[in-house]
Amino acid sequence: MDDRYDVVVVGGGAAGLAGALALARARRSVLVVDAGAPRNAPAGHVHNYLTRDGTPPADLLVAGRDEVTGYGGHIVSGRVDTAARDGDDFTVTLADGRTVRARRLLVTTGLVDELPDVPGVAQRWGRDVLHCPYCHGWEMRDRRIGVLATGPAAVHQALMWRQWSPHVLLLRHDAPPLTPDDAEQLAAREITVVDGPVADLVIEGDALTGVRLGDGDVVTVDAVVVAPRTTARAGLLAGLGLTPVDVEMGGHVVGSQIPADATGATSVPGVWVAGNVANVFAQVIVAAAGGLAAGAAINGDLIAEDTREAVRTRRHQVATMFTAQAWEERYSSRPSVWSGRPNPQLVAEATGLTPGRALDVGSGEGADAVWLAQRGWRVTGADISRTALDRAATHADAAGVADRIDWVHADLREQPPAEAAYDLVSAQFMHLPGDERRALFARLAAAVAPGGTLLIVGHHPRDLRTTAHRMHLPEMMYTAEEVAADLDPARWEIAAAQVRPRPAVDPDGRDITVYDAVLVARRRS
Ligand SMILES: Cc1cc2nc3c(=O)[nH]c(=O)nc-3n(C[C@H](O)[C@H](O)[C@H](O)COP(=O)(O)OP(=O)(O)OC[C@H]3O[C@@H](n4cnc5c(N)ncnc54)[C@H](O)[C@@H]3O)c2cc1C
Repeated sequence: MDDRYDVVVVGGGAAGLAGALALARARRSVLVVDAGAPRNAPAGHVHNYLTRDGTPPADLLVAGRDEVTGYGGHIVSGRVDTAARDGDDFTVTLADGRTVRARRLLVTTGLVDELPDVPGVAQRWGRDVLHCPYCHGWEMRDRRIGVLATGPAAVHQALMWRQWSPHVLLLRHDAPPLTPDDAEQLAAREITVVDGPVADLVIEGDALTGVRLGDGDVVTVDAVVVAPRTTARAGLLAGLGLTPVDVEMGGHVVGSQIPADATGATSVPGVWVAGNVANVFAQVIVAAAGGLAAGAAINGDLIAEDTREAVRTRRHQVATMFTAQAWEERYSSRPSVWSGRPNPQLVAEATGLTPGRALDVGSGEGADAVWLAQRGWRVTGADISRTALDRAATHADAAGVADRIDWVHADLREQPPAEAAYDLVSAQFMHLPGDERRALFARLAAAVAPGGTLLIVGHHPRDLRTTAHRMHLPEMMYTAEEVAADLDPARWEIAAAQVRPRPAVDPDGRDITVYDAVLVARRRS
């Protein structure tokens, strides 16, 4: 068990495991805490679960647990005592004192069947004391079935079970007298009404054989049907402000459940419920479906939260990534950031130019400036980072061209270069938010002397489709055509506005092709 999960699921029955499966398959970290007492544990088989009809309840859960853990979900045995808000998380405390935090909670703790207090009922519960004809009706077909009336729903129950057997008796026990309508319906379906309280069940060997009435008479039956009050097992939700509400059927309260929407979302943000705790009528397959719906909804909620968080992070990143401090941190975090080789598009374009005065914009560790100086250019290398400029100066010294380069510490967005002062202005991979970029490029263009060359190279937007893992800032990438469109054709001749492929190696070591946006423009004389 880890300290924190995306989701803690409380209860590992059909609902909890189905929710955990959906979440684990959605690559969420998920922990199921299960007390190991599913509601149908006393029953021999699960029925009406398509493709699994007749499976022993425990086998179904073993298979479910295997599926959850097979996708990386964690399951621990234990009982959760409390769940409480803890900032944006929840803290879940187990009875043995262990605690775990979760971003979301899925509570699938089921319900408690409150059985009538008749000796033998609890003992035979789920075996030959039954409640649900869809669970046991087929197996009890044509047998003698005594419906133990403990409330007004008994007539409805007797009429239901009559569908499975012609031998149904209504044991009136302590229920109110029948209305004439009820009596007529029962008579019409040949259901015998047995008056008088039931004292206890008659059990012989390992089987129910009858019910003993208060007067000592024994009525022979093969099964007794009861209508337990179904109470949501929701104590741990009280601390979060969630309490069960009554559930009515035919105008009578039959149990309680935690109110939730169709996905299981409760009124408390971050808390979902599924299965019998949210729907007292849910059969196993319905409980599982509820768990799946809740798991999917929780994942959707987490996706929305993850996206909000990513937007916050990105906004902060964009707001701070181009500051002098950010560049200083980047350069000082390692001995060298760049390869030390001149940029290939600079080499391609400047090789044929007559050397003059060059401005290297964002000169970094100096590879481009040194290369230009070695070819006879008089270079100004401008950068926002002092660390980068110091490294560049060292490289220029080592290359013997220190006297041909002036290093300028400047943020060219705020300290624009002198106008018409350079025969070549080279900006390699300057990626800024759109407005800032256009303003800077306009100033760089203004710095080009008549007859001079403006060379702007950037990562082309199509690099985002490759595995190059460029920073995902599509609005900061640009095409050469976009840059060219901002240049006045009366003053500029576009020599090249192209996307140029270039071989590269991606972070996983694969050979790939990346794409440079290359603008070469000559300032008309
Ligand atoms: C006798 C009987 C026979 C049934 N037969 C059928 C049938 O044939 N077909 C059918 O479709 N349905 C049948 N049902 C209904 C079936 O039991 C429910 O539909 C099903 O169990 C609901 O699943 P669930 O996940 O909501 O709850 P459960 O299966 O009850 O699972 C809840 C789990 O949560 C755990 N838990 C509870 N509180 C905590 C806590 N605080 N901390 C940790 N864990 C906790 C419990 O121990 C349990 O393991 C039968 C019910 C009964 C009573």
